[in-house]
Amino acid sequence: MVDTIRIKNFIDGEWVTDENEKILPLYNPSTGEQIGEVPVASQATVEATVKSSHEAFLTWRKVPIGKRVGYLFALREAMKNNHEALAESIAIDQAKHISEARGEVQRVIEIVEMSCNAPSLLQGEMLDQIADGINGRVTRQPLGVFCGIAPFNFPALVFGWFIPFAIAAGNTFVFKPSMESPLFMQKMAQLLNDIGLPKGVVNIVYGEREVAETWYQMPEVVGVCLVGSSPTAKSIAEACGRVGKKTMLLGGAKNYLVALEDAQIDLLINNIVQSGYGSAGQRCLASSIIAIMPDLYDKVIERLTEATKKIVVGDAMNEDVFMGPVISAQAKQRIENFIQSGIDAGARLVLDGRNPDLPEANKDGYFVGPTIFADVTPCMEIVQEEIFGPVLSVMKIQDMDDALDLIRKQSTGNGACLFTQNMYLAEKFMNEADVGMVGINVGVCAPHPYMPFGGIKDSLIGNNKVQGKDGFDFFTQNKVSTIRVAPPQNLSAEQSSGGEQKVTESAGKGNVRSCIAS
Ligand code: NAD
Repeated sequence: MVDTIRIKNFIDGEWVTDENEKILPLYNPSTGEQIGEVPVASQATVEATVKSSHEAFLTWRKVPIGKRVGYLFALREAMKNNHEALAESIAIDQAKHISEARGEVQRVIEIVEMSCNAPSLLQGEMLDQIADGINGRVTRQPLGVFCGIAPFNFPALVFGWFIPFAIAAGNTFVFKPSMESPLFMQKMAQLLNDIGLPKGVVNIVYGEREVAETWYQMPEVVGVCLVGSSPTAKSIAEACGRVGKKTMLLGGAKNYLVALEDAQIDLLINNIVQSGYGSAGQRCLASSIIAIMPDLYDKVIERLTEATKKIVVGDAMNEDVFMGPVISAQAKQRIENFIQSGIDAGARLVLDGRNPDLPEANKDGYFVGPTIFADVTPCMEIVQEEIFGPVLSVMKIQDMDDALDLIRKQSTGNGACLFTQNMYLAEKFMNEADVGMVGINVGVCAPHPYMPFGGIKDSLIGNNKVQGKDGFDFFTQNKVSTIRVAPPQNLSAEQSSGGEQKVTESAGKGNVRSCIAS
C-alpha cells in the first residue's frame, strides 16, 4: 500500500482522532487496492461535533448576512484555485472518471455562487395595517444545528446542496460523508479553515448509521438531511418523526428515457450513452429504462449497441477512458446479480458487461462493463429495482401514454426524459410525467443550480427540494410578528400623533378588539 491516507474528523477547526474510534479500510475502486483508513467516530466524538456546532451557532447567527456570504465568496475562490485537487479526490476514492469529477466540482462552485444570493433571497415580508394599528412582519430566521448525510456517488454535490444554504442562512452544520468517498470533505475542511470560517460553523464526522442515531437524541439538532437510497430515507424519516426533528430526505430513483418516432436519432443515442453509462450508471438521474416506439425500436438497439461497443472502460484517472468502475466489490456483485436476474426473466442480453477487458493494473478493480438488455417487460426485476450500475433495459411502447402509465406506477419519481420534436407531446409529458424533474431532448435532466432539484414519491421524502430559491426553505423558519403600532394609552393623542392627528381613546380600544378578532 502506497501513501496511506488517514481520514480524520474535523471539529472546531481541528483534525480530531479519538482512541475509541473504529477504523475501516478505504479502497481505490479502480485498482481494488487499499489506499487509506476511515474512522467510525465514537459516540463521544459525535456528541462533541454537535456541541461545538451549537456553540458556534449562538454567535454565527448574529454575524451580519453580508459577512456570512463573504465567506462563501471566499470559498468559491478557494475552490476555483483548487479545482483539480478537489476533482482528483473524487476520482480516487469514488472512482468517478476524472473529467466527470471536474464537472462535479464546477457544479458545486456554481451552487456556492447561487447561495451568495442569500441577502436577496432571505428577505422577509411586511404588511402594514393588517388590522387597525397593527402591522404584520415575516422574517426568515435560522434554526440552529443541522446535520447532513451524503451518499457515496456525489461527495461534492451534496456538500453544495446542504452547507452553503444552511450557513448563509445563519445555521451551523455537522456533515457525515459516505465512508466510501470521504476524501473530498477532507480537502474542503482544509479550504474552510483557510478562508477563516469561524470554528464549529461546519464540522465533519465519519461513521455509519450510529452517527445519525446519536443525532436523533440530541436536543441541539434541529434537523437532519440526507441524500441516499429510499430505504435509508424512510428509516431516518421514521426516527426523526418520533423525536420531532425536521427532515429533508432525497431518496433513490429509477428513471425512464422515452423516445417517440420523430426523435432525432444521433442526439438520442448520444444522450442514452451519456446518461446510462456516465459515472458507471451510479447517478440518481441516470436513464435506466429506455422506452422506444415500434418504428424506432430496432434501429435504436442497433445504433446503441454500436456506440456502446466503443466505450473504453478503465481507471478513473485515465483521460482516455470513458467509464470507470463501480464503487465496491459488493456493488459489482449486486449489479451482476441483476444481470443474471434479467437473463432468468427472459430479457434479451444484447451486450454483457460482466468481465470486461481491462488493463493489468485494473484487474482487481470493481468493474462492470456497459450492458444492454432488450425486450424487457414492466414486471421484470431489472425494471422495478434501482440497479445503480451501467445496465440499460430497452423496452417497446406503443405510444407516449404507455410510458406515462409506467412512470406513474413506479414507487420512485425522480426524473424522466422525452425525445421528440413534437412540442404538443413534449408539453403533455412535462405536465403528466409523475416525477420531480423532466428532460426534453436532454438525457440527464439535472436542473441548473438556479432551479430546485428533487423528485417526488420515494425519491423525496417530505417537500423540500435542494438548491435554487428552494435551497433556503428547509434551513429557515418564517417567523411571523404581529406589531401594534397604535399609541400606548399613557401617551396623549397629541404626543403620539406628533400633534397633527387626533386619536380618540375609543379608537385605541377598537384596535385591541380588532386585533384579537383577527
Ligand atoms: P445509502 O442509502 O446506502 O447511504 C447513504 C448515506 O446514508 C451514507 O452516508 C450511509 O452511511 C448513511 N446511512 C445508511 N443507512 C443509514 C441509516 N439507517 N441511518 C442513517 N444513515 C444511514 O446510499 P448510497 O449507496 O451511499 O448512495 C446511493 C443511493 O443514493 C442511490 O439510491 C441513489 O439513487 C441515491 N441518490 C439520490 C440522489 C437524489 O438526488 N435523489 C442523489 C444521489 C444519490
